[in-house]
Amino acid sequence: DKPSYKWQRVLLKVSGEALAGDHSQNIDPKITMAIASEVASVTRLGIEVAIVVGGGNIFRGSSWAGSSGLDRSSADYIGMLATVMNAIFLQATMESIGIPTRVQTAFRMSEVAEPYIRRRAVRHLEKGRVVIFAAGTGNPFFTTDTAAALRCAENVLFVGPVNAEVVLKATNVDGVYDDDPRHNPNARLHDTLTYHEVTSKDLSVMDMTAITLCQENNIPVVVFNLNKPGNITKAIKGEQVGTLIGG
Ligand code: UDP
Repeated sequence: DKPSYKWQRVLLKVSGEALAGDHSQNIDPKITMAIASEVASVTRLGIEVAIVVGGGNIFRGSSWAGSSGLDRSSADYIGMLATVMNAIFLQATMESIGIPTRVQTAFRMSEVAEPYIRRRAVRHLEKGRVVIFAAGTGNPFFTTDTAAALRCAENVLFVGPVNAEVVLKATNVDGVYDDDPRHNPNARLHDTLTYHEVTSKDLSVMDMTAITLCQENNIPVVVFNLNKPGNITKAIKGEQVGTLIGG
């Protein structure tokens, strides 16, 4: 029997920056363990979890392109490889606490991870395994936010007649504010926003490619703070946390 939570299957997007915490070596094992334990608790409830990891804690293509003759495509491939490092770290952490986890990469690296095969990913999820999608979309000039939207749009999350598609974007902020909360103490957190509000006001939630892909495919996005204990669990269980973008 499937649980009656808001989502049966979710896509959790974890940025590289969120993994870094304040650790000097790119990844904070306290954070990966916190993510793993919260994901473990929801998979035990029967909710299926796919994860897209970013790589910005190690390498961000756009900030390197141009320097020392590095072209954008080469820089972006390095960035995609960085996401694979994060994915393997997170996989090892998950498995250390007993959650079976598979990494699938958008380009082949078959000695270290499975290639991305949509139906196989779905099968893993059905079996209760966590699937981590690494290497973004496999294409330069995109981001891992777009990879998260793309995997949803491809129906990786579709469960029978239930529309279980949602991108849960774990960040270092509480959600989307009407002003910058670091400068304006009266800035208000939006509980909900429409895609149109996000794109027309240019709110920096996701890059435009990612948010419009969500909009075109009616994929809701929840932006929430990963650093508050319990938030990942809340977001995955479909409880009110952060900002819900949809409609
Ligand atoms: N990247 C890419 N194509 C993709 C996804 C990522 O080229 O489909 C590269 C890009 O250089 C990006 C880097 O990988 O800067 C790391 O990903 P991202 O910046 O999305 O990570 P995050 O901000 O989530 O840490």
